[in-house]
Amino acid sequence: MKTIVTGGAGFIGSHLVDRLLADNHQVLVLDNFSTGRLDNLKQHKGNKRLVIKKVDLGTNSSNWIHWFRKIDWVFHLAALADIVPSIVKPLDYHHSNVDGTVNVLEASKKAGIKRFIYAASSSCYGIPNVYPTSERAEIRPQYPYALTKYLGEQYVLHWGQIYKLPVISLRFFNVYGPRSRTSGTYGAVFGTFLAQKLARKPYTVVGNGKQTRDFTYVTDIVEAMIKAVKSIITNEIFNVGSGRTYSINELVKLLGSSLPAGRQVIHIPKRPGEPYCTQADITKIKKVLGWKPKIKFEDGVAKVLEDIDYWRDAPIWTPKKIKVATREWFKYLGK
Ligand code: UDP
Repeated sequence: MKTIVTGGAGFIGSHLVDRLLADNHQVLVLDNFSTGRLDNLKQHKGNKRLVIKKVDLGTNSSNWIHWFRKIDWVFHLAALADIVPSIVKPLDYHHSNVDGTVNVLEASKKAGIKRFIYAASSSCYGIPNVYPTSERAEIRPQYPYALTKYLGEQYVLHWGQIYKLPVISLRFFNVYGPRSRTSGTYGAVFGTFLAQKLARKPYTVVGNGKQTRDFTYVTDIVEAMIKAVKSIITNEIFNVGSGRTYSINELVKLLGSSLPAGRQVIHIPKRPGEPYCTQADITKIKKVLGWKPKIKFEDGVAKVLEDIDYWRDAPIWTPKKIKVATREWFKYLGK
């Protein structure tokens, strides 16, 4: 198939590109390289089935729409991530995550593509009432990142409904794996902890570390996208998660530390607006797409550790730096 992966130089996108190339498809990566890295695709240097273009999808499509001609599958992953910058610069997030999505939908519609897969976020559930959380749970975005990813999803489903674009939206739960994001802003726990481990600094554990997340290994996420793109189902939303939960303390244990006991972790204040737990109800995707997670958390963390040098240049977050970086977060969400 001829495929487009927007955001293909990012963390999840680059793993999807690995899989599509391994399956002999042709891949065109469209990425603005704001957080994506060419390095994430260096393993494919010289592969003629991969083409990479620098494009800002939030801007007028006349410069890039021609790339969509004769494309079969579009995977739309390009987006700005992270909570704090979304609170500081909500319009940038609207531009990338909403305008970008509408533009890609229009380009896909005009080109008559065969399948459209949207990378949605479980952050739309906010702090849910029910665990595991199903696709029917109330939508409660807690910050602009979550809102803009959800608005993107609404556009995707609307283009499915009105224009009959064959779309599926997948709501990812805490994705981790090799090449986990390190965009420079304070955010996702894996990048933060791995850089701290390399620098022999204590892990900055939020609260008492007993909070839990549904950590989902990136190749399981990729498999879900492949199952979705090959199915004939359209206009549906699916949770993609491990369906299980792991505490931050368990993660710390699995990552290990070379520091003496008692100095391995530092506790930092609980962050406003974040759920105590995330857990996907994956009944629907198991039943309808026949997908299930394969990688156990212990094995996934071990794979990440094999690749730990990737985080050598990542910022090292200390409690003091985190306090400064999350000032707006506490200011606006803290009440
Ligand atoms: N977390 C932590 N220390 C950090 C960053 C995150 O203990 O320096 C915890 C955080 O409290 C949350 C989990 O790690 O329970 C995942 O956080 P992340 O920001 O990666 O994802 P999200 O909160 O959006 O699910």
